[in-house]
Amino acid sequence: MLSKTYSLGIVGVDAIVVEVEVDLMKGLPGFSIIGLPDSVIKESKDRIRSAIENSGFEFPPRNFIVNLAPAGFKKQGANFDLSIALAILHSTNQTEFNPAAIPMAGELSLTGEVRPVRGAIAMAITLYRNGFKKLIVPYENRNEACAVSEIEIYPVKTLEDVIAVFEGRIPVYTPDRSSDWDDPVPDNYPDFSEVCGQESVKRAVEIAAAGHHNLLMYGPPGAGKSMIAKCIPGILPRLSRDKSIETTMVHSIGGKLNYGDGLISLPPFRTPHHTASDIALVGGGKIPGVGEITLAHNGVLFMDEFIEFKNNVLQALRQPLEDNFITVSRAAGTVSFPADFMLVASSNPCQCGFLFDEDVECKCTPMQIKKYFSKIAGPILDRFDIEVYVPRVAYRQLMGKIESEKSLHIKRRVEKAREIQLSRFGENGPEVNSRMSSAMVKKYCYVDEHDSSFLSNAMKRMNLSPRSFFRILKVSRTIADIEGEREVQKSHILEALSYKSLNRYYDV
Ligand SMILES: [Zn+2]
Repeated sequence: MLSKTYSLGIVGVDAIVVEVEVDLMKGLPGFSIIGLPDSVIKESKDRIRSAIENSGFEFPPRNFIVNLAPAGFKKQGANFDLSIALAILHSTNQTEFNPAAIPMAGELSLTGEVRPVRGAIAMAITLYRNGFKKLIVPYENRNEACAVSEIEIYPVKTLEDVIAVFEGRIPVYTPDRSSDWDDPVPDNYPDFSEVCGQESVKRAVEIAAAGHHNLLMYGPPGAGKSMIAKCIPGILPRLSRDKSIETTMVHSIGGKLNYGDGLISLPPFRTPHHTASDIALVGGGKIPGVGEITLAHNGVLFMDEFIEFKNNVLQALRQPLEDNFITVSRAAGTVSFPADFMLVASSNPCQCGFLFDEDVECKCTPMQIKKYFSKIAGPILDRFDIEVYVPRVAYRQLMGKIESEKSLHIKRRVEKAREIQLSRFGENGPEVNSRMSSAMVKKYCYVDEHDSSFLSNAMKRMNLSPRSFFRILKVSRTIADIEGEREVQKSHILEALSYKSLNRYYDV
């Protein structure tokens, strides 16, 4: 007898509904799985047989053929264990209900326990889009799957629980949503009030956060560049519900979600080490997986000691920085992952680090300086909207009694500037100034002929590429938004220009 169930497979960051068919064939006892399974699925035969027997059922000596459809994509992971087990029980008349009534995903242990899967939230979203109403998930995935409120979630701990769900003995899960949307500034990030002085740097960081602009901080060692970067999550606004679901999806598929977690509502902050490979950073691999830039989607990618990253890694960043997604192609197929992140980088300005320092003399030769800088010059430097020098803080400032502003206050201004951007672009537009198209820049960053030729001349003098033109105007727009000004003014352009000063020093 042919039995059918539904499960879900993961491709990229999406889930696909998979039909699991089990047929009993004539012939010697056997168990084969067809439809492009990976090695993990092929190994599931032993798990499923043990789980069925250890849950009080029989695994009769018959010839089972399991077909996973559609056959067109490579199925990976152990998501299908539950579905295969249920179809086997049905095909051998050990259960009476229709196992196709509720889709399910879960890995079985030898004892019949159900283990968590990756991508539960993507599965719930796909089922909703395809008109399904219910989903059985491993207990650990329950809160994540519940984020899609249109789908009824049934969490299970064992194979016997799954049968209990079909027989109506386990009720639909109702999550505790009271704590869902009111978490404050995460307290594991440092606060800007702990950063002494550095007011001009803080101003640049605030602008970057308000408009989601890429930021490069350069300065001597010990100036506090990474400390400042780590304060950034504390001034970023909470994610909208849509972005929150997107972010949770990529973390779920990347296997970075703590089981039991619900939606991620704060922007992620990723800090890859400079020894990271290009695959670790942008994603890929035999079966394409997500990299750091995708885990930083809707948040911040902080690259400390930017120049120390391998050259191929920096080059691999160029496409996603332009397109806000990354396409990786491998033998198993081509997939696209979202990668709309704010790049924050820190670097020494030269080998010894003291090129612009007021007290310590730089020991590098002009050749060394040029060579050092050439690694980020050109196309990569072009992708930073804001470059800011972080000086060492003088002793008297460190000991000063001047109270520094708290992150929460800065966050309020950032939120206000974001609201202005949201209402300007409307529902279908971008959420932030840095994501404006060229046409939008012309419309919303209008400057008169006089200011426009002033900007062009300044750019020529500062050795800036033509593509910087739009970036400078976008930053000007953000500064105007922070100031609450409707029109972009010359003072805003001047400040934005001051954040593009690196090229000039290196004469490249
Ligand atoms: Zn130096």
